[in-house]
Amino acid sequence: MRIEVDPNSGFCFGVVYAIAQAEFFLDQGIKVYCLGDIVHNDKEVERLKSKGLEIIDHNKLNQLKDAIVLIRAHGEPPETYQVARENDITLIDASCPIVLKLQNRIREVVRQAPSGAQIVIYGKPGHPEVIGLMGQIPDDSGVNKVLVTGKDDALQKIDFSRPIYLFSQTTKSIKTYYELGELIKEEAVKHGNTNVYFNDTICRQVSNRDVKIKEFARRFDIVLFVAGKKSSNGKVLFETAKSVNPNTYFISSVDEIDLRWLEKAESVGICGATSTPSWLMQRVKDFLERELNTHSV
Ligand code: SF4
Repeated sequence: MRIEVDPNSGFCFGVVYAIAQAEFFLDQGIKVYCLGDIVHNDKEVERLKSKGLEIIDHNKLNQLKDAIVLIRAHGEPPETYQVARENDITLIDASCPIVLKLQNRIREVVRQAPSGAQIVIYGKPGHPEVIGLMGQIPDDSGVNKVLVTGKDDALQKIDFSRPIYLFSQTTKSIKTYYELGELIKEEAVKHGNTNVYFNDTICRQVSNRDVKIKEFARRFDIVLFVAGKKSSNGKVLFETAKSVNPNTYFISSVDEIDLRWLEKAESVGICGATSTPSWLMQRVKDFLERELNTHSV
C-alpha cells in the first residue's frame, strides 16, 4: 500500500503566523487569550490550549482588563480595537495581511462611493472574517452593506439599479465568485446600470490549491481529506478533491477512519485544508501504517 501526505496541504502563511505569535508568548509563560478559535481545527486548538492558550468570545473580551489578547488571521471589526483600548488590553494582532488589505479596500470604497451605493460581500453569514469585513462599513456611512451567500440570495437582496462594489470573503471558491460577478453585472445592465465594480479578493493560498489538490487526488485510489468541520476552506477543497476522485473521505481525526474504505485500495493520499496542521496529516499516515501492519485490509 502506497500512503502519501500531500506536501502542498497544511497551514497557509496567515495561520502559521498567528500560531507562531501565540507560541512566542506562551513559551515564555505569558498568559494569552485568543478571540475565537485560533484556527478552524479542533486538534490544533487543543494542542495550543494545553500550552496555556485560552479561547474567549467577545462577551469575555468586554469583561477582561489589562490582558494580552491575540487577534487571529480572520481579523476583527473596529469595535474590537475600541474595546481593547478602553479595557487596557494589549492586542497581538495576527490578522492576515491579505484580510487587512481587503478591509482597507472596503474602507476606501466607503470613503469614495456615492451615497446609496452598495457594498456587496459574498461570504458565509456569521463567519468571523465576514463580521470583520462588514464591520468596516459604518451604519451611518450612506453606503448600504449587503451580504450574499450565492446567486439566488444576490438576486433577492441587491438593488441592481444602484452602484455595486463587489467583494468576497477570501476563502470562497474563485469559480463561484466569478460566476456571481458575471450574474450581477448582467442583472445591473438590465437595469441600465454599468456601475458594478468587481474586486477579486479571493486568497491565492486557497485558490491555487485547487489545481494542486486535484493533481494530488487523482493519483490515489482513496483520498483522506483531513480538516476541521468548521473550516470553510476545508469544505471547498474537499469538494475539489472529490470532484476528481469520488473515493475521497472527509475526516477530522483518525477516529473517523473506517478501514473498510481501504479494502480494495492500493494507494491512499492524505491531504487537507489551509487550517489543517501537518502533524495531524502525519498522524493519519502513521495510524494507517500501524493498522495495515496489524490487520490485512
Ligand atoms: S487563507 Fe489566505 S487570507 Fe486566509 S489566513 Fe490564510 S493566507 Fe490569509
